[in-house]
Amino acid sequence: MSAQHSWFETEPYPGGINRIWEPHVHSFFRANLYHVVGRDADLVIDFGMGLRSLRQFLGLKDDRPVIAVATHVHVDHVGSFHEFHCRLGHSAEAPAFSTMSDTSTLADLFRTQPDGVSRAPDPEWTPDRYRITPAPLSDILDEGAQVDLGDRSYRVLHLPGHSSGSIGLLDELNGVLFSGDAIYDGTLVDDLPGCDKSEYRKTMERLCDLDVSVAFGGHGVPMARKRMQSIAENYLDLCS
Ligand SMILES: [Zn+2]
Ligand SMILES: [Zn+2]
Repeated sequence: MSAQHSWFETEPYPGGINRIWEPHVHSFFRANLYHVVGRDADLVIDFGMGLRSLRQFLGLKDDRPVIAVATHVHVDHVGSFHEFHCRLGHSAEAPAFSTMSDTSTLADLFRTQPDGVSRAPDPEWTPDRYRITPAPLSDILDEGAQVDLGDRSYRVLHLPGHSSGSIGLLDELNGVLFSGDAIYDGTLVDDLPGCDKSEYRKTMERLCDLDVSVAFGGHGVPMARKRMQSIAENYLDLCS
């Protein structure tokens, strides 16, 4: 395996779903990226830190369409977004994808994080030069929009709170949700600049009622419905 490939780790799940993460990135910024191989198109959800080429790692075939969806604009999810042509995300964060400013991505938190990486992505790398390449959206995914892969399709859920344009993708037929940072199996974050706790509470109420068999979060391992519900209920209890 080449050095390029060893930057990422990957775990396959049923239904052509691959969970990918960057083991050398500090745990706070170590997000999940997903590659879903559909019948007519590949779907890539979230894009890591952009420290090495995600597109190269995925080894995508040139003759198949690739749909790239960012669940939200935070630094740990959008680093390699610019490597894709068909880039989709929520309208509330559209201007932020165009500039990738620190104000929206919070990349400054990573730049100043001691031990942001346990291994440099290349010998010349230094954290102070870390920047995210702008990646303007090619199309908007607001509540109710569909992402179709031919053999399955995802409905867009707007799940604000963690950020204003946070979205999830729900495959209603198979009960699969990609939830970004709206919910994941780990400590949820609602106190960063741009977070809105009252919006987050509404999102959690919605997630409590959502009928899914598995949710793939922006961090941590996948959650069965019961686990997702208890995380959402716990959040609501803590704020009541
Ligand atoms: Zn995250
Ligand atoms: Zn986030």
